[in-house]
Amino acid sequence: MSSLKDILDQNVREAAPELYAKLDRQRVRCYACGHECPIPEGQAGVCKVRYNRGGALYVPWGYVAGVQCDPIEKKPFFHAYPGALAYSFGMLGCDLHCGYCQNWVTSQAIRDPHAVSPPQRAVPERMVDEALTLGAKVMVSTYNEPLITAEWAVEIFRQAKVAGLVTGFVSNGNGTPQVLEFLRNWVDLYKVDLKSFDDHHYRQLGGRLQPILDTIRQLHALDFWIEIVTLVVPGFNDSDDELKRMADFLASVSPTMPWHVTAFHADYKMTDPPDTTADILLRAAQIGKDAGLKFVYAGNLPGRVGELENTCCVQCGALLIERWGYLIRSYQINAAGCCPKCNAAAPGRWAKAFDGQIAHMPFVPRRGRARDTVTSK
Ligand code: SF4
Repeated sequence: MSSLKDILDQNVREAAPELYAKLDRQRVRCYACGHECPIPEGQAGVCKVRYNRGGALYVPWGYVAGVQCDPIEKKPFFHAYPGALAYSFGMLGCDLHCGYCQNWVTSQAIRDPHAVSPPQRAVPERMVDEALTLGAKVMVSTYNEPLITAEWAVEIFRQAKVAGLVTGFVSNGNGTPQVLEFLRNWVDLYKVDLKSFDDHHYRQLGGRLQPILDTIRQLHALDFWIEIVTLVVPGFNDSDDELKRMADFLASVSPTMPWHVTAFHADYKMTDPPDTTADILLRAAQIGKDAGLKFVYAGNLPGRVGELENTCCVQCGALLIERWGYLIRSYQINAAGCCPKCNAAAPGRWAKAFDGQIAHMPFVPRRGRARDTVTSK
């Protein structure tokens, strides 16, 4: 029987020329993520899915390890096509190894024998047809880290854009200038997990802080629609000082970039910290507001965080979108993407009209469904 590694080795093609360089002695350097691995012939990079064969870089192609339709609010995007259905797909592997990953079955499949998520062959045209049939407006690469499988995502998004779909990445943000340029014409929405503001913490997760910060700045400069998520883990990243440095940085990039502070629950290998309470989220959100951020949301504890699930006009304070978890309870933004009371523009990507929530697959969150949470990886 073929091993997972054998199957993955058969589903590859040469990397995009923009995403690698040939070095001496048949080595290559990959630019798909911030590790920028130099890879000797016959070896794989840190992510284990991009490897050097005969002096050329080979990368995942032609399969998916998971497909699901989710509310776009679950990604979470709160300022992009509220209520839309997001056709979400993932591959295998990740460039980090976070102990609390909620998608570890796909992201750690090559490192961890307990993670089993068999790949299935996929054809972009069929995926797009299925998304349209299900009523999706958005296609999102998620579940594993999409940067390390950027070529395949772009191949799917080429077809998605022809069909009029919006596209997005749900990513850890460990990018490079090369990969962001490569994605620029194909990805509309970009979510970054900002996991900490401490380089030591990032190294525990297998990364570094600086490439994430550089990626957020570059995404903003390149005009992607960005939303930032921080999973607030008690004892790991919830000190006032760390949250303040995070919020100050985000406000320096753009005060209108949404920041979601979301609640942790024990998962995968990180089972020691207690679950995040509503009080901790309220404290984190206040730190964000004090730093000047205009749109701060508290996630994963629906109905327990007051107004922090709603979107209000930054100019007059009118309620623009009322939410309960992922459920849109009311929507007031007008066809021009503005507040109907004072006409101030609401930052984001808006449809001309709100079509109701997920027209063909109505989604109603079940109270107390703890695992149905904003994903963090
Ligand atoms: S995607 Fe990142 S981890 Fe994987 S080979 Fe490229 S630089 Fe290394």
